Amino acid sequence: MVTNQSVFVQKFEQGLQSYLRSELTPIAFCNGEMALYNLILATKLKLGYGVSDSFGVLVPSFTFSGTVNAIVANHLTPVFADVDDSFTLNPDAILKVDDTVKMVIPVAVYGHLPNVDLIGKYALQKGIAVIFDNAPAFGSTRNGKFTHESGFSEIYSFHATKPFTTMEGGCAVTSDPEIWETLCQLRDFGQFEKERGDVSIPGLNSKMQEISAIVGLSNLNRWQDILHRRSEVIQRYDRFFTKYAAAGTLRTLKRNSDDFCTFIYYPIVLKEDADGLIQFLASHSIAARRYYTAVHTLQFYRGKYTEQDLFVTNDIKDRVVALPLHTSMSNDETDYLFTTLETYFDRNQTV
Ligand SMILES: *Cc1c(COP(=O)(O)O)cnc(C)c1O
Repeated sequence: MVTNQSVFVQKFEQGLQSYLRSELTPIAFCNGEMALYNLILATKLKLGYGVSDSFGVLVPSFTFSGTVNAIVANHLTPVFADVDDSFTLNPDAILKVDDTVKMVIPVAVYGHLPNVDLIGKYALQKGIAVIFDNAPAFGSTRNGKFTHESGFSEIYSFHATKPFTTMEGGCAVTSDPEIWETLCQLRDFGQFEKERGDVSIPGLNSKMQEISAIVGLSNLNRWQDILHRRSEVIQRYDRFFTKYAAAGTLRTLKRNSDDFCTFIYYPIVLKEDADGLIQFLASHSIAARRYYTAVHTLQFYRGKYTEQDLFVTNDIKDRVVALPLHTSMSNDETDYLFTTLETYFDRNQTV
């Protein structure tokens, strides 16, 4: 049995449940984007809409294209919102929506959880549903809590590039039994019974394979070690960048002291365009990315959908550099990154 929720997928889901302390078992998917696609659809149905009905979904432009693609693939209309200096959704954006918007999808870019409490409060005021794209944020907490512990449905990605990986994979976590049930059917073609394979929703096959679950179980076993080592690497980065942030050479991600962020990449915002530093690092065999991009500027999305005031997004989109940060980075490797950055900053500006 290599697929169809066999032994290891079930074990993996139970392992996730005990780590995430969730009431209902997390639902494993083939990847994070399909987990999000299905969670959007299940929530849309729960709100009383049909599969091909449409409404507006507030989403930060500063995210990975996958977030917004999952909205559009559900026949819904993105409304692009701005971020604040935490690089996550500015909660005030919710107060500005008109009544065509029925859902908001905040995103935990770089693994940094958005302001869950304020977003929840404003969404309640406006009567709109909230689901979290926490794709890169497995293990991240706010005030010691996972997002679902504040009562919201969320998804995680277990892609090879994320801190916790099943190679390709993802999961959805919800405490709503109706949404949970729909998600289980959706990942299996929408089938609600297996005798005739009858479907009530046209679901897209998005099951996790057993082999991914086996990798996931193995990584769950070493997860505390991964988190511990990662925290050490993150602290080294934080220490290194403090003086540059104080001198105004760059900005780092603003977070609260009680936020725990697992950091997929370490973002810095330069005063100048990111290209120079990225090329300089590449010439020293260091791979840095322009990540995240502003989705409202990507070819398919450009000029097509409503944009709120995107001041911060437009201000940082060409200046942000995602520096490599890895669990098994040695101190020699981080030192090499830091001295290379020092050389660049000394050459380009006075600190
Ligand atoms: C990684 C990521 C995704 C996509 O997850 P996959 O597992 O690769 O499909 C979606 N949204 C965000 C914000 C991500 O960082």
